[in-house]
Amino acid sequence: MRDDASGSGEEPPAGSSLSRFKEFRSAGRGFWNDVSEANWNDWRWQLKNRITTVEQLERIMPTLTPEERAGTILANTKLALAITPYFFNLIEPADENCPIRWQVIPRIEETNTARWEMTDPCGEDSHSPVPGLVHRYPDRVLFLVTDRCAAYCRYCTRSRLVSNAAGYDFHPEFNRQIEYIRQHPEVRDVLLSGGDPLLLSDEKLEHLLSQLRAIKHVEFLRIGTRIPIFLPQRITPELCARLKKFHPLFISIHTNHPRELTTEVRDALGRLADAGIPLGNQSVLLRHVNDDVTVMKALAQKLLMCRVKPYYIYQCDPISGSAHLRASIRKGLELMDGLRGHTTGYAVPQYVIDAPGGGGKVPINPEYVLSHNADRVVLRNYEGKVFEYVEGANGAPQYKASENFSVPELA
Ligand code: SF4
Repeated sequence: MRDDASGSGEEPPAGSSLSRFKEFRSAGRGFWNDVSEANWNDWRWQLKNRITTVEQLERIMPTLTPEERAGTILANTKLALAITPYFFNLIEPADENCPIRWQVIPRIEETNTARWEMTDPCGEDSHSPVPGLVHRYPDRVLFLVTDRCAAYCRYCTRSRLVSNAAGYDFHPEFNRQIEYIRQHPEVRDVLLSGGDPLLLSDEKLEHLLSQLRAIKHVEFLRIGTRIPIFLPQRITPELCARLKKFHPLFISIHTNHPRELTTEVRDALGRLADAGIPLGNQSVLLRHVNDDVTVMKALAQKLLMCRVKPYYIYQCDPISGSAHLRASIRKGLELMDGLRGHTTGYAVPQYVIDAPGGGGKVPINPEYVLSHNADRVVLRNYEGKVFEYVEGANGAPQYKASENFSVPELA
């Protein structure tokens, strides 16, 4: 068995930024100190008390910049403002560069649309045979469940639809969506997304999952959600008990910065993992947030501590009004180069670009193959050292055994 434990010995010194990012903390109740424990831990209370207006925001965050204030006023015509009290407490109000702040507080730059930006960069609407269902890949479908999220990410690729601020008027028709899947035996994998599927009530979610599970050719169910990050209170033992009835069921969470992985989030993810649900994470590469190798490495390592496999890093889609948050592809490649080989292989996600216009995910990797011809491949490793792998003319690897050659015993 191969092992990748023989690393570079790059242990973070205690107190380094890597180890500080990796600490699990609770941000506590902050501004909501007088709220009862029961209310604070009640996901419906968190939803009911979200920050949704500039007046509310200014009251609890006097440090709002002119760009943020103007953006917040205009947000309701594009992508609404909503932040749960729990998630708001992760913002450091005195820090204009706080990575949490850049993700959820609107800015006036969102009203600038570059020539190449689009309202539907992944071409979902043009691959939608019935409302709320996207069939873009041969054997799987995206099943949009709702247009609501616990909080709204300012770079959301579905901002045309979620929150309904832009007037998309999304009305999924579950019966038609399910019927389409029934009629298409090639669909073996259904991804529930939105908006956030975990905002449905337990009963509604269970009903939907049982209808999908009853379709013989559906082998595999997935849920894409940011609820464990924005609203960990929603991951109740009751919800986990219902979800575990529908295995194989995987969940992809979405987190971008290690500070989002609090003690509350770690516990919520632990409940999902204990319910036997394999967990993966999708991050979006964002300027001001995670375009830094130490941040990405801390995020990836912390995710593994929460039993979550870092799955994808997305190049930020060219969604209208997102230029101020978009990091370059060069930066993304640099980050991948700083992860591969420098940390556990399980911690290294795949960097992808969702090809604009509906081309699907395309993997993007730093160049490790320096040259390749009929009989050899020249490779570079994570340290920049160069190696040759020699192949015979028929493509089979050729080894020249020395006289002392012996096959090592397998462990
Ligand atoms: S949680 Fe997902 S769907 Fe909702 S706003 Fe954020 S990125 Fe968009």
